[in-house]
Amino acid sequence: MRKRAICPKCDHDEILYLPQIADRDDDDVVRPLVVHVVHFDWKDDVEMGKLSAYVCRKCGFTELYTKDAANLPFDKIPGARILKGTRE
Ligand SMILES: [Zn+2]
Repeated sequence: MRKRAICPKCDHDEILYLPQIADRDDDDVVRPLVVHVVHFDWKDDVEMGKLSAYVCRKCGFTELYTKDAANLPFDKIPGARILKGTRE
């Protein structure tokens, strides 16, 4: 869907690209939704894995993409693990 702008579910040809997805904290501040936040005592938090989306304008099917996915510290995210694919 990202490359061709065609929905794989319904074949519609109008896709909405969202460069970021909004999240909101307790103070009603809108922030980009991210996969992981690294906390430091001595400097500001570092947000990693900002999400972007491609949304079919007809059926609503949505694909999410994570920025810089290869460098996410998955060992620090509870429950996260690498699933290795197999090819035959
Ligand atoms: Zn669709």
